[in-house]
Amino acid sequence: GYYATSSDIHEQKTVEEELRRTNTILSAHFDNTPLAVMEWDTALRIVRWSGQAESIFGWSASETLRRPLSGWRLLYEDDEASVSEMIKGLMEGRERHATLLHRNYRKDGSVIWVEWHNSALRDGSGKVISILTLAQDVSSRMQAEERLQFMATHDGLTSLPNSVLLNDRLEATLSRALRARSRVAVMFLDLDHFKDVNDTLGHRVGDLLLKEVSRRIRAALRQIDVLARISGDEFVVVLEDLPDEDAPDHVARKILDEVRRPFQIEGHEIHVSGSLGLALYPEDGTDSETLLKNADAAMYQAKELGRNGFRAFSMELGQRRAHRRTIETALRRALKSDELRLHFQPIMDIKDGRVTRAEALLRWYDPGHGLVLPAGFIPLAEESGLGHAVGHWVLDAASRQARAWRDAGLGDIVVCVNLSASQLRDTAMLADLKKTLQRNGCEPSWLQFEITETSMVRDVEGASLVLAKLRALGMRIAIDDFGTGFSSLSHLRTLPVDVLKVDKAFVADIDARPGSKNTRDPERGDRAGGAAIVSAVIGLARGLGLDVVAEGVEKQEQLDFLKAQGCAAAQGYLICQPLPADEFEAWLRSRARRKPPRKKRLTS
Ligand code: C2E
Ligand code: MG
Ligand code: MG
Repeated sequence: GYYATSSDIHEQKTVEEELRRTNTILSAHFDNTPLAVMEWDTALRIVRWSGQAESIFGWSASETLRRPLSGWRLLYEDDEASVSEMIKGLMEGRERHATLLHRNYRKDGSVIWVEWHNSALRDGSGKVISILTLAQDVSSRMQAEERLQFMATHDGLTSLPNSVLLNDRLEATLSRALRARSRVAVMFLDLDHFKDVNDTLGHRVGDLLLKEVSRRIRAALRQIDVLARISGDEFVVVLEDLPDEDAPDHVARKILDEVRRPFQIEGHEIHVSGSLGLALYPEDGTDSETLLKNADAAMYQAKELGRNGFRAFSMELGQRRAHRRTIETALRRALKSDELRLHFQPIMDIKDGRVTRAEALLRWYDPGHGLVLPAGFIPLAEESGLGHAVGHWVLDAASRQARAWRDAGLGDIVVCVNLSASQLRDTAMLADLKKTLQRNGCEPSWLQFEITETSMVRDVEGASLVLAKLRALGMRIAIDDFGTGFSSLSHLRTLPVDVLKVDKAFVADIDARPGSKNTRDPERGDRAGGAAIVSAVIGLARGLGLDVVAEGVEKQEQLDFLKAQGCAAAQGYLICQPLPADEFEAWLRSRARRKPPRKKRLTS
């Protein structure tokens, strides 16, 4: 017979089935995933090495199984420490998972970036029995990131560090210098007239020139020196570990010499020069921002001093810059908050003593500084782009005043307005002027304009076009400070002008006769020429059919001389100081009462 026992193994079979299924799923996943799957036993020998692991690292499963982690070229030397630290953490049960990005060698010796996701596998009692690793080759991502990082910190044209990286490097340099108590030199270099190269030879040649300039400067520096291109034609050099006191000067000269040597670019021989400013740590600043700002200020001064040279930063230079900035801000406010005023100085016809013109002279009552004269802020306004706004204010105020005086029955007073260089260049000035005149009910002939020769030098043709248009509107034009600018007689012949104003410097020297003790002034040379110049200008004006006004007449002898020479009009403290509008009006009225015009007195 037979004997049978049976037991219910359904549970067991289901579990087995389940296990098999899980295993199949896992294996399918392991084989299909783009990740390399690896497993290490507790002795850190490889017990699993998937097909994807082979394609990422190059070794086959048969070459790697049973191999320990160390002892072959899989780990990149610099990253070994961090990998063993991570494995220790997993093995000792401190961590369950750990992700690490590091470099690995491939079988062919090349280096790849790999992201490792590791998990500790445990048995029922919780003991770690192996480590499962899923790994991914992220080299192309890392390269893209490196590339992006490079692009964000370097200049695309020259591959030099840009201002972002310069700041980092400079900060690092300064903290080293602080510890080592050493000095650092920061240099700011700007090419002179680089725009001309771009304009005449094109941007391509301009770009090639910049590349060549940066190559030459780089070659003139030590490896540890930083050279950065921070914008167009501006470079910054940072020198640390200065070998001696003279090193910065020496390097500055070397850089400028390199820039000055002619460049051969696409068949063109190009000559450029540079202006360089130097600031030293710690004396000229202890943080990167101040040092860069001061090197920049010194560079500007090198430009002002005629370019093609270098300047070291000095405290006065810094103070001047700071002063400029304060004035600029204050002037912006002044325009808004009614701090500007016009003063008026009479211009007297010498023959009969009549006053038919007044020069409008700008004054600024700064609540912080008191009265500021135009020399203290007009050049600055011009530099900072406030010239238009100031000019507009003056035109508006002057035309309103001209109207007001006509309305008040003060006579046919012509208001003489000084025009600046930027107003002459401003294409919108004419339209603005017409609108202003209309708004204020002022006839063009009630104004006269004064322009200095120097304000026209940049573009005589352009200026003379504007002057012709002003004249066509019905205004008279005077050349101010005549004799101190370029005084080209050929220009004078063609410029549309009506009046010459002889500069006060010549008038002041009228009485310095040749042979007198006081004829040589170390600053002004031979002053005795004053009288000769004044009479020459008067003669010249007469020959050209122009009116002449002598400025700065302070003494009766000067007025007598001018009268004898046939000068038409005079202006100066002898007659009257510049006065606020109401005082000018009062002055003119009392004068009319006290002193009838000479002509009438002569005939009566
Ligand atoms: P400017 O047009 O040659 O003005 C004459 C300057 O000589 C004025 O100086 C006037 O106050 C001064 N002056 C008058 N009489 C005498 C005198 O007898 N002796 C001496 N030593 N000086 C005398 P101010 O007012 O300081 O103006 C200086 C310059 O500023 C002006 O020279 C003019 O070029 C400019 N300026 C004044 N107002 C304006 C303005 O509204 N716009 C522009 N663009 N420039 C202006
Ligand atoms: Mg003037
Ligand atoms: Mg003048």
